[in-house]
Amino acid sequence: MRRTLFEPEHVDFRESVQRFVAEEVVPHQEDWEREGIVSRDVFARAAEKGMLAMQVPEPYGGVGIDDFRFNQIVNEELSVAGAGGSGLGITLHNDICLPYFTELGNQEQRERWLPGIADGSLITAVAMTEPEMGSDLAGLRTSAVRDGDGYLVNGSKTFITNGINSDLVITAVKTDPSQRHGGISLLILERGMDGFERGRNLEKVGQHAQDTAELFFHDVRVPPENLLGEEGAGFRYMTGNLAQERLSIALSAVAAARGALQVTLEYVKQRNAFGQPIGSFQNSRFALAEMATEIELATAFCDQAVLALNRRELSAQDAAMAKWWATELQGRVADRCVQLHGGYGYMLEYPIARAYVDARVTRIYGGTTEIMKEIIGRSLGV
Ligand SMILES: Cc1cc2nc3c(=O)[nH]c(=O)nc-3n(C[C@H](O)[C@H](O)[C@H](O)COP(=O)(O)OP(=O)(O)OC[C@H]3O[C@@H](n4cnc5c(N)ncnc54)[C@H](O)[C@@H]3O)c2cc1C
Repeated sequence: MRRTLFEPEHVDFRESVQRFVAEEVVPHQEDWEREGIVSRDVFARAAEKGMLAMQVPEPYGGVGIDDFRFNQIVNEELSVAGAGGSGLGITLHNDICLPYFTELGNQEQRERWLPGIADGSLITAVAMTEPEMGSDLAGLRTSAVRDGDGYLVNGSKTFITNGINSDLVITAVKTDPSQRHGGISLLILERGMDGFERGRNLEKVGQHAQDTAELFFHDVRVPPENLLGEEGAGFRYMTGNLAQERLSIALSAVAAARGALQVTLEYVKQRNAFGQPIGSFQNSRFALAEMATEIELATAFCDQAVLALNRRELSAQDAAMAKWWATELQGRVADRCVQLHGGYGYMLEYPIARAYVDARVTRIYGGTTEIMKEIIGRSLGV
């Protein structure tokens, strides 16, 4: 179905993103998967092509485009090409971390960090999850105790995307342990601060090219200039940004499902059994028809959500609907497409196998499917 949300400049931009993904990402994917991390250079190369941190205003070295459709295009093109694992660091930087700096950063912080965020020399991450706490964000324990003007930070985080590559980590800390939501603040921890250590690059089921790490903080002295926004307002800031984060994950999920369907369609047209292409069995045709339909439905919903986000109207519950439904769809599609590939679908040299293992986590990170349903359920007054 023709998508009506894009203007000619988006169509041109999509073509250049497609070239970037084909030339600068896909050829390196296998190396990055083996190494468990993408090269830092890919951020700088994305910046050169105008695909990194597009919202950074021009005076700070960015292109100053406040239109999420451009983020959507970068996100979709990485995922539809089966490079969502390699591209996750870029989409996290663009869609999830950047708003914390542009919306909460004061003048001095913007001058200090935005130019590096825009040119890819400062890679960002956001650290909320801890070994003892994920879904229940208000229960986080990493402490930031007042120390002179600044803070002394102790604790640890886990499962942090860009955990190894990151230079600036938006870190959720407890500045007032007597409170739950109201006791949380956001501090920027910087590469090289004394007492800030990276743990292992974690071995995951999928998304092997993405560095996901533990972070440890032992008496890290953080100056007051690294507090984002107001002390005690961190929970409000995080929940405010989560709608965009969840929509970003939904967009990747739908595009990854579309990519999985595309490679499967090619496969079932050329593979024969019982004297006919396997795609022509009625069971295969029905499975493909169902997946194509569901992908179109999800695309229509997500496109509306992008326009709502641009109008600053995307609600937490609508973003939660997009996230849970799109990621569950991605999982269903990847699984069915493996089945249509038969044994080859289980071989990692086939793109569908990578799509399958990469898909599993999207129902978990950014808030699990169950938490999404809690948000939607509460919005219904139950
Ligand atoms: C690859 C990867 C990358 C990640 N990247 C980041 C990152 O960059 N930054 C970051 O901060 N975090 C990151 N995470 C963490 C991720 O957001 C959490 O794993 C997720 O929010 C779930 O938290 P948890 O793992 O502690 O699970 P838990 O909260 O322990 O949940 C376990 C199970 O209990 C269910 N459950 C919990 N509470 C409820 C409830 N109220 N009702 C019903 N069911 C419930 C959950 O749905 C889940 O099924 C990442 C995780 C992974 C795996």
